[in-house]
Amino acid sequence: ALIDDQGSLVASSDQAFKPHKGNWLSTLPASSMRVSVPMLFQRDSGTVELDNGYLQYRELHGVDLMLTSYISATDLRSAVNAQINTLFLAVWGVLALLMVLTLYVVDRLFKGQLNLNRQLRELGLVDGLTQLANRRRLQSDFGGLLRRLEDDQPVALWMLDIDRFKNINDNWGHSAGDEVIKHLATLLRALVRPQDLVVRYGGEEFCVLMPETSLEEATRVAEHLRAATAQSVCVPDASTLLVDAPSLDIHMTVSIGVAEYRADGCESLEELVATADRRLYAGKQGGRNRVVNRDQ
Ligand code: GH3
Ligand code: MG
Ligand code: MG
Repeated sequence: ALIDDQGSLVASSDQAFKPHKGNWLSTLPASSMRVSVPMLFQRDSGTVELDNGYLQYRELHGVDLMLTSYISATDLRSAVNAQINTLFLAVWGVLALLMVLTLYVVDRLFKGQLNLNRQLRELGLVDGLTQLANRRRLQSDFGGLLRRLEDDQPVALWMLDIDRFKNINDNWGHSAGDEVIKHLATLLRALVRPQDLVVRYGGEEFCVLMPETSLEEATRVAEHLRAATAQSVCVPDASTLLVDAPSLDIHMTVSIGVAEYRADGCESLEELVATADRRLYAGKQGGRNRVVNRDQ
């Protein structure tokens, strides 16, 4: 409402506006007349609290008119509520988004950690040079195998050792020796069955765990591997050989001791390994490049 210095209504945003003589302020609902027209003109601009609402006013200089706006307490409350609802919804939305983001980040971290743990576990079970299983893996797989197999199903194991390996290191160098170890690892992987576990047991010693395999069957495969190794050649990168190496290729032989779980009186992995190792040693004593499957 636009009022003059007498309080008369000059113009209004109200559609049903009619020019109104007399103090327009007195028409306001429930006004206790805590406010007068001279008071408004004196103060220039501001807000006055009435009984049931608020009056905002601003003097328009130069024309001596006062622009006023009355808002009831009810309207004000619902306007504030609407603002608060919007704010509340916005805050709630942001919080929900933050929560989803946090869950996503935690999930990623958790999965990353699990992945890392798995990789570490695998690294702890794998030999670095040959990528074959290591002794720790043999131990854990043997336990699992016993739980899985029936009592009467045979389990065989080889211990294999490269013959005169020290000579290979001495004559061709340690890098060439490493290549021979890798060469043998490849042969082993190729010649045993997928269900057999090939283990690098120590330096140039390997062990093969064969589930559901009798002593005879394991001996047959061991003999095949022994013969294949004797016929194979390892050709290491020439630049890694000692300058006075006897040749560019390396021939090798292996000795293998074979034992069967329970049938040979072995009641644990340690006893099985010890029996196969004893037979391997007998093979070395007997001249090397041979498979031994009984105590002599
Ligand atoms: P035998 O026929 O009696 O088995 O004779 P050998 O020379 O193979 O036996 P010995 O145990 O005396 O030598 C094994 C050598 O293997 C000694 C060690 O220096 C070497 N060796 C152990 N681990 C590695 C390895 O990872 N790389 C290389 N190049 N040599 C290794
Ligand atoms: Mg050895
Ligand atoms: Mg050896």
